[in-house]
Amino acid sequence: MGEQNSLRDEVRAVIATRRGEFAAQCDAWLYGHDPAFTALLAERGLIGITWPREVGGRAAGAVDRLVVTEELLRAGAPVAAHWIADRQIGPAILRYGTPELQREFLPQIAAGEVTFCLGMSESESGSDLAAVRTKAVPVEGGYRITGRKIWTSNAHRSTHAYVLARVPGGEDKHDGLTEFVVDLSTPGIEVRPILDLAGEHHFNETIFDDVFVPSDRVIGAEGNGWRQVTEQLSFERGGVERVLSTYPVLETLLRANRPRPQHASQTGTLVARLHALRGMAVGVAAAVDAGEAPIRRAAMLKYLGTSFEADLVEYGRTVLGSTPRPGRGEADRIVAEGIRRSPGGTLRGGTTEVLLGILARNDGEPQADDELSRLVDEAVADLSRADKPADTVEVWARASGLGWPGAAVAEPAGGGGGDFSDLVTIVRGLARRGLAAPVAESALAA
Ligand SMILES: Cc1cc2nc3c(=O)[nH]c(=O)nc-3n(C[C@H](O)[C@H](O)[C@H](O)COP(=O)(O)OP(=O)(O)OC[C@H]3O[C@@H](n4cnc5c(N)ncnc54)[C@H](O)[C@@H]3O)c2cc1C
Repeated sequence: MGEQNSLRDEVRAVIATRRGEFAAQCDAWLYGHDPAFTALLAERGLIGITWPREVGGRAAGAVDRLVVTEELLRAGAPVAAHWIADRQIGPAILRYGTPELQREFLPQIAAGEVTFCLGMSESESGSDLAAVRTKAVPVEGGYRITGRKIWTSNAHRSTHAYVLARVPGGEDKHDGLTEFVVDLSTPGIEVRPILDLAGEHHFNETIFDDVFVPSDRVIGAEGNGWRQVTEQLSFERGGVERVLSTYPVLETLLRANRPRPQHASQTGTLVARLHALRGMAVGVAAAVDAGEAPIRRAAMLKYLGTSFEADLVEYGRTVLGSTPRPGRGEADRIVAEGIRRSPGGTLRGGTTEVLLGILARNDGEPQADDELSRLVDEAVADLSRADKPADTVEVWARASGLGWPGAAVAEPAGGGGGDFSDLVTIVRGLARRGLAAPVAESALAA
């Protein structure tokens, strides 16, 4: 990412102007709501950077945006105000919205003036998003929306909501789903606070009672919402905020020189995992730049990234050696915050179980190579004996002998020169035969 160095410096310089005015925090992209900081980033042209210049962007790539978000999250900077609009609503409008919708909203998002919350979940529709019951009834000039959205982060501080609602008709539960941009000042909308376990207010229940939404506020085509929202979820899941939400714990502990020699191995393991996850995040961003919607790769990143985030908090607890007390200094404060906030990591944006379901299925992205699949199966067929199944050491010897841990590494670097999908085919082939060995872990580290 060498060509992004000047962009990285630019972001660091902006952060430096405000250093000392904000305390680094975990989940800064959800809890760090600071319109003044958002306005500063907007002024420096750092919101919506992947969008065309005519609508306020820089025509940059997803890898460039990754650099911007990585620097902001590493600093724990307060970026929640514009996060949702910059990450997924802007891109959704750009991909499916009419030119009028794009001209109206994208410049205002890039200027930090319009902010969005996400109205997807309902009390009976979280993981099963297609079960949405909020209704959008067509009327003259638009729709009337009625329903209740729950867990709408920062709805009380946003100007607009993205709302997934159902237009009547259609037999299948995926039919009729439609995406709307809703101005939260429209009559009939009530935003009720929901406090989390720590008493913090970022969640809400957002109630829509016969709310009129003009037709020109539909994103894409009426009834095409399911297809559109599943694409949007790859933006939601595939960013570095699924890896770096608790990163300030690591940096704060290291700066305070808190880890002792007995923590060296844990520290090293975490840094190595972080390195591998960064590589995956760059891969997802590069796929977006290539015009793909990397749904499965984004799910994989979120699954591995959020488990890293949780382990980082546990590491913080171990390094402190006692229950963190917020009044006892920076290290205690940040670890306590990480503990309070980390349960949400594996739920929001798709629970771990749902992500594993996506990874186990064979749809969503290019299929594994059939020939490779057959070769893998042949190579390990003799190991899956019914009488005495091969143990991990035997499977590992076979896998490493065939160079599989290096399957997705470039040939000049000593690997097999394949790509991520080859690795998936290999791991799937082992799983199909019920054979366990740390091939995926070693391949990611490689
Ligand atoms: C911090 C945070 C912020 C959030 N912000 C927003 C927001 O701004 N806007 C918004 O719309 N939503 C938001 N959410 C909601 C979030 O998207 C949902 O909580 C999530 O999709 C899970 O839905 P649910 O809570 O209804 O759980 P359920 O779907 O009821 O799931 C309950 C349990 O069943 C398991 N399960 C469900 N289906 C399956 C399956 N098919 N296979 C295996 N296991 C399954 C789940 O893994 C989970 O353990 C937020 C959540 C959190 C924690």
